[in-house]
Amino acid sequence: MAITIAAIRGVSSGIRATRDVSEARAVAAPARLEWRVAHVVSVRDETPHARTLVLDVPQWPGHRAGQHVDVRLVAEDGYQAQRSYSIASAPESPNVELTVERLDDGEVSPYLCDVLQPGDGLEVRGPIGGYFVWEIAHGGPLLLVAGGSGIVPLMAMLRHHAAAPREISARTAVRLLYSARTADDIIYANELGRLAEAREVDVQYTLTRTAPADWTGHRRRIDRPLLEHVAWPAAEGARAFVCGPTPLVEHVATLLVELGYDPLQVRTERFGPTGP
Ligand SMILES: Cc1cc2nc3c(=O)[nH]c(=O)nc-3n(C[C@H](O)[C@H](O)[C@H](O)COP(=O)(O)OP(=O)(O)OC[C@H]3O[C@@H](n4cnc5c(N)ncnc54)[C@H](O)[C@@H]3O)c2cc1C
Repeated sequence: MAITIAAIRGVSSGIRATRDVSEARAVAAPARLEWRVAHVVSVRDETPHARTLVLDVPQWPGHRAGQHVDVRLVAEDGYQAQRSYSIASAPESPNVELTVERLDDGEVSPYLCDVLQPGDGLEVRGPIGGYFVWEIAHGGPLLLVAGGSGIVPLMAMLRHHAAAPREISARTAVRLLYSARTADDIIYANELGRLAEAREVDVQYTLTRTAPADWTGHRRRIDRPLLEHVAWPAAEGARAFVCGPTPLVEHVATLLVELGYDPLQVRTERFGPTGP
């Protein structure tokens, strides 16, 4: 049995992902929130800093758009590192896709982005979460606000919307405001461009660091005038999902409530401590 050993900064010994998937599957527990060993089917670079892992998870019970999984890495000395990653794929997809942004000083994300390869095994647990979820049956209008990798669970919602029968998705209008540092940091740019061709999906970007000379999108951090410009008026009764770095999420959620959104309809997911 081959075993992956990856040096992880700050960890005395290597982190191990299970490489022999067939053996690992035999011991993977079937219960819903037990750890299972997923099989990496393929990887896809989304940006210079973000990679999608396409996973085949045995006995996957299915998920709802917006849910996440826990990922666990185990070192030879028993040290464990565990992180949460949102599910990027639609519930309709046969595989579970995770999109991970590499933090250069991080413990887990460099391993997932740089070391893990097709054929490797990866321990996952889930799906987790029942609050930050959206189903086509919930209807709209829908406001999605993302900062950085916070786009990931919102992408699952957009993909779920796109997978619905046309007569249903056409009744559910969606607006996405996506804040990224630079144009190169926009995850799923091509797919978002295609989705935006649908009349009921509006995609707007704002870049917070540098923008190309021909950039026609917004060029600042999300503030009240920008949100007023992009968001549905409160009277429309939209559901809002806000995801990304903690300061962005708290700022946007506060602004939406100030703009008259029902706090119960503003759902948030916080990924980490810094902003784009
Ligand atoms: C519910 C949930 C879903 C998530 N989904 C995703 C996802 O889909 N894609 C994704 O890339 N990440 C996601 N995250 C974040 C992820 O769990 C990790 O926190 C992230 O990958 C960093 O882990 P690390 O071990 O590489 O860094 P760590 O070793 O934990 O941290 C390294 C350094 O980066 C800082 N840091 C930690 N997390 C972040 C962050 N998110 N942003 C900026 N700085 C940070 C730390 O303060 C520290 O200075 C999610 C988090 C939660 C709670």
